[in-house]
Amino acid sequence: MATFSKLLIEKGVTKNTHGQKIVENFKKMFSVENIFEIENYEDIFQSFYKPYLEKRNNLNIFLAQKKGQLLKETPDAYGGGKIKRYYFIHAYNCIYECNYCYLQGFFKSPDIVLFINHEEILNEMEKIIKQYSPTKDNPIWFHAGEFSDSLALSHLTQELPLYFNFFKSHPHAYLELRTKSSNISELLKLAPLDNVVTSFSLSPKQQILANDFRTPTLAARLSAMNSLKQKGFPLGLHLDPVIYSPQLKEEYTQLCREITDHLPLCYFNYISIGVVRFTKEVYEKVKEHYPSASFLNQDLMTKSFDNKYRAIMPLRKHILNTVYQSCLENGAKKESIYFCMEEESTPSY
Ligand code: SF4
Repeated sequence: MATFSKLLIEKGVTKNTHGQKIVENFKKMFSVENIFEIENYEDIFQSFYKPYLEKRNNLNIFLAQKKGQLLKETPDAYGGGKIKRYYFIHAYNCIYECNYCYLQGFFKSPDIVLFINHEEILNEMEKIIKQYSPTKDNPIWFHAGEFSDSLALSHLTQELPLYFNFFKSHPHAYLELRTKSSNISELLKLAPLDNVVTSFSLSPKQQILANDFRTPTLAARLSAMNSLKQKGFPLGLHLDPVIYSPQLKEEYTQLCREITDHLPLCYFNYISIGVVRFTKEVYEKVKEHYPSASFLNQDLMTKSFDNKYRAIMPLRKHILNTVYQSCLENGAKKESIYFCMEEESTPSY
């Protein structure tokens, strides 16, 4: 678990019942001299540059109200199929430190901001649901975890019951909780819903050790997934980002076998496969912060169709196909697999 240097609480936060509860939970972690009341988190967060790697030993946490847009439409190829999808913003930044994480080039600070206005997020979702009138065959999806991990701090933020209550009465709207965490204690207190899918990002254990710093081990994530499956929670799987290694086939065959030792690949509602990718800004930051990362080999990365840096095409096809085949060979349903953030979202070979 990360340790935090300071807790900065926006004045309005405790006016909200949920905000009061979160503040109490967080206050237990801090001594009084490390807690500050502030007017507006934006006066501090992002108003000056804080080096990303300070997250290792000087990480602050803000409790704040999100102003402005709470939901945004996802880019094309974010998920499988031609479905209306939105992500919602409940937090900025993350306690983990994956060396490919795009957050290092996105914000000017690694400090964590937790937004407490979940009721407003749900009101926005309600409006969108009314606008689209989703049906069984034409559902709508809302994704958490675009700017943070969905479960890592959920025992402190305790918003999950609000979302479960909401989605229980909107069966054709789906919620995805994306995570690399094994912190499922809050989920296990709830009754599973078919339309709330917890999706885990997994990589072979060698790649987790090399790239996913401070994240739960593969064994811990698999054990968490198994516990959720035992209770009937629907699950998704993200084999994303796949990082090329000469042992790619062996690594992913092994990973698929380790997953199937805990739960069959056909259990997952969907499996996404995606290669590591960066915008130019993030690519520069990754080179600065993690110069020896294996995926930075200049010969193998190039600007691709959406101006993001990815592996050159023949290699990319090889990576995607190899992982796809490993999934199929180990029992995944063909129709459950899609390629994430690629020109072709389904395998064309
Ligand atoms: S878990 Fe996700 S959000 Fe957190 S550091 Fe890793 S890639 Fe970034």
